[in-house]
Amino acid sequence: DSVNTHTHTNTHTHTHRHTHTQTHTHTHTHTHTHTHTHTHTHTHTHMTFRTERTVPRVGVMLVGWGGNNGSTVTAAVLANRMGLSWTTKTGEKRANYFGSLFQSSTVSLGMAPEGEVHVPFRDLLPMVHPDDIIFDGWDISSMDLGRAMERAQVLDWSLQEELRPHMSSLKPRPSIFIPEFIAANQESRADNVLSGTIAEQVEQIRADIRDFWQSSGVDKVIVLWTANTERFCDLTPGVNDTAENLLATIQRGGEVSPSTLFAVASILEGCAYINGAPQNTFVPGAVELAVQKGVFIGGDDFKSGQTKIKSVLVDFLVSAGIKPTCIVSYNHLGNNDGMNLSAPQQFRSKEISKSNVVDDMVQSNPILFGPGEKPDHCVVIKYVPYVGDSKRAMDEYSSEIMMGGHNTIALHNTCEDSLLASPIILDLVMMTELCQRVRVRAPGEQDFQSFHSVLALLSFFCKAPLMPPGAPLVNAFFRQRAAIENIMRACLGLPPQSNMQLEYKLQ
Ligand code: NAD
Repeated sequence: DSVNTHTHTNTHTHTHRHTHTQTHTHTHTHTHTHTHTHTHTHTHTHMTFRTERTVPRVGVMLVGWGGNNGSTVTAAVLANRMGLSWTTKTGEKRANYFGSLFQSSTVSLGMAPEGEVHVPFRDLLPMVHPDDIIFDGWDISSMDLGRAMERAQVLDWSLQEELRPHMSSLKPRPSIFIPEFIAANQESRADNVLSGTIAEQVEQIRADIRDFWQSSGVDKVIVLWTANTERFCDLTPGVNDTAENLLATIQRGGEVSPSTLFAVASILEGCAYINGAPQNTFVPGAVELAVQKGVFIGGDDFKSGQTKIKSVLVDFLVSAGIKPTCIVSYNHLGNNDGMNLSAPQQFRSKEISKSNVVDDMVQSNPILFGPGEKPDHCVVIKYVPYVGDSKRAMDEYSSEIMMGGHNTIALHNTCEDSLLASPIILDLVMMTELCQRVRVRAPGEQDFQSFHSVLALLSFFCKAPLMPPGAPLVNAFFRQRAAIENIMRACLGLPPQSNMQLEYKLQ
């Protein structure tokens, strides 16, 4: 169905004049007058949105299926699909999708006589329901999903017992293992690996995708990397700078990371590929290949805990006119992800991914921050086996308030990491699949076009958003959420949510 969305705007000019007068001595008086003129030219654009309403059957292939996230998200979907409940020392629990934007949060449709109307986010447009997703995937560890769920130590034992008969029959496919990309401490897990040249291995991954597609009867497949964090790879002209060079490097067996090999295999099979880890999977050649093939890619690194709070808290401070001056974030965790991140190169990938998150918020406020000025920002991650998947995140935010005053906020967050990441995996899939059904026609154009292959709408779910070339980066949580909400409203023919509520603010 097509809907038209109008944006009405005018042109107007704001002029701000600041006059600073400083008197130094009795005899010298300096007067500085700064005049900043901002001219806003608003344009009126008539866009037509068309959304295919038939929801296809969706298959998801996870790279790292036997890991904590992979086994937990698979178990959670099975438990929800079967409507399982289980007993713990604090009473009966029921399967749910808490933490999923689409499944468990709401949006306002407006005011009715009886009050504001909130509907589940998932009901705005037809979207795939997580219960209907079919999972498959690869892991370098051969453990079946029943045992992998036990190894992860995330879900309550009585729930594991209910799920085990359903999980044990699920076995990860052998994967591409290049030891130097992940920590050496992962080697002992690698008993399920492909052999042959990397070109042959990419062919095998492509064959796996086709095999799953055909044997499961799904209409489309989305591939998502939730395997270990790799080290960054070098960006080398002639090796991975263009699609052609990247494909040639694979053919001659040059250096390409496993996550990039999976990206290439998915893109060549026409499947969207999402990177849930921080490494630079999307080298320029991989991005170009996705654009050439018209396939969605998205990432990087699930925004699940500490960074998610940061993208709210720094936005709050800067938007309130308070100046954050120093942010220090400590983590300790004891799962396999933590063990992998205890190696310097893999930690470095995570550190980079976590470090730029405040930039857009800081740059938005030149009253508080001078050119190039940023808060001190430090990230520490330590591996402490005892805490398992119950990651601890401790943050200290120091800010400058009025008249040289100080404000320090300290946070301590404890929760199961994989139970934060699992609903995000589902949201990423739901959002990607919906975007594959949306087309937009710009004014004066004949044809409808799709979103850019680098699917920027996924940035809400990612710590280090991959953006189309030249697109501004937004990390602020509620701005990212508003982008998703307002684009979905546009698909419905509703205007963007303005929150003006002017009807209640007049005499
Ligand atoms: P995990 O170590 O439990 O799982 C990773 C799995 O990937 C393991 O089973 C491992 O055997 C497998 N693996 C490694 N290399 C592989 C390859 N080349 N091919 C196939 N499988 C491979 O870790 P996790 O806690 O599930 O986290 C997974 C990833 O998600 C990590 O990179 C982590 O940094 C990232 N991440 C997690 C969160 C979170 O909240 N849990 C948030 C952001 C990012």
